[in-house]
Amino acid sequence: MTASAARMADGARDPLSAPAGRVDTRAADKPLRLRPPGSGRGLYDLSLEELSHLLADQPPYRLRQVWESLYRQAALPEQMTALPKDLRQRLSETVPAALRLVSESVSGDAQTVKWLWAGNDGVGVETVLMLYRDRATACVSSQAGCAMGCKFCATGQAGLARHLSPGEILEQVAEARRRALPRRLTNIVFMGMGEPLANYERLWASIERIHNDMAISARHITVSTVGIVPGIRRLSHEALPVNLAVSLHAANDALRDRLVPINRRYPISDLVEACRQYRAVKNRRLSFEWALIDSVNDSPSDARELAEIASGLGAHVNVIPLNPTDGFATRGTPPAGVRRFRDELLALGVNVTVRRNRGTEIDAACGQLSARDTKAAAEA
Ligand code: SAH
Ligand code: SF4
Repeated sequence: MTASAARMADGARDPLSAPAGRVDTRAADKPLRLRPPGSGRGLYDLSLEELSHLLADQPPYRLRQVWESLYRQAALPEQMTALPKDLRQRLSETVPAALRLVSESVSGDAQTVKWLWAGNDGVGVETVLMLYRDRATACVSSQAGCAMGCKFCATGQAGLARHLSPGEILEQVAEARRRALPRRLTNIVFMGMGEPLANYERLWASIERIHNDMAISARHITVSTVGIVPGIRRLSHEALPVNLAVSLHAANDALRDRLVPINRRYPISDLVEACRQYRAVKNRRLSFEWALIDSVNDSPSDARELAEIASGLGAHVNVIPLNPTDGFATRGTPPAGVRRFRDELLALGVNVTVRRNRGTEIDAACGQLSARDTKAAAEA
């Protein structure tokens, strides 16, 4: 069992009925009183040790066989055809999946798939799989909703329901891995619903499993954060060097305070310092996300301020034309303005890419995940 998994299992006398652990609020904006993740623990919440108890009556090789089927092949118990039928059934019944599929949307070109799930308490969770020529990326949620309240983000507009457990995070990855076949799922980005660093312990327990058991390297795992400074510092002490993406969106405190409320707690100077430390310790790619909002953060002076910060840190900038959401009236910068902003950054020596808008038609693009219809769908 990994250190984080051990912490998660702490105090779990009866591994199958125990709650998924205490809610960790240390890295969050303010202490949150939340229900703990779903009432039951799913298949991917089990530690190896807990699984061994479940398989106590089986030949010794079963443990490895089931574990590898779960993680390497991302197979569900009913798909583990090498197992005796009664064992498959027992596993499905005693440790069912923690997320139930509510709906699947596929883009016209079939390269983007969005799943809407319901936790066993009915909360909505969304996951997006994006297939590219050279890679397959799962955009994974770390919380049901988000407490950070960024004005332009559909998830933030809906507020936070609760944290996801490691098993709920891993189930999303496993489904993406199955669905990507025969392609290999190569990249994991924590850019779905929620603020990953506000659910630190569970996030990290899932990352260790993704790395150790699903064999996806840390170089291909990206944690995107709104800028939770203590969380970034903590990340820099972990053994696995994951990529860090910081959702900057504004390079001066006056504007960032308005767009990203957590900036009032962790202002840009502190954030930049934490990023500098992360880069120094981990030597990993650092990127800034910049949702380009018409006449809000797309002026030449915005480009200059951003360039100053990005150049100082050797950071890459991802410009994302703002995707429309119901709760934010201002629209994204039109294409000509996006090109101009990109060219200004390039001229200032910044490494910049404009992110293609994937999945807008199925509300699967950045900032559009809200799981707004889950409750209704779950009750249907
Ligand atoms: N909470 C984390 C990760 C999830 S959001 C974070 O904020 O980084 C994933 C990315 O989508 C973030 O960069 C976020 O700022 C951006 N985003 C949010 N709303 C958006 C919108 N309407 N259009 C484009 N990008 C958006
Ligand atoms: Fe939360 Fe990220 Fe959306 Fe902000 S942008 S509300 S941190 S999910």
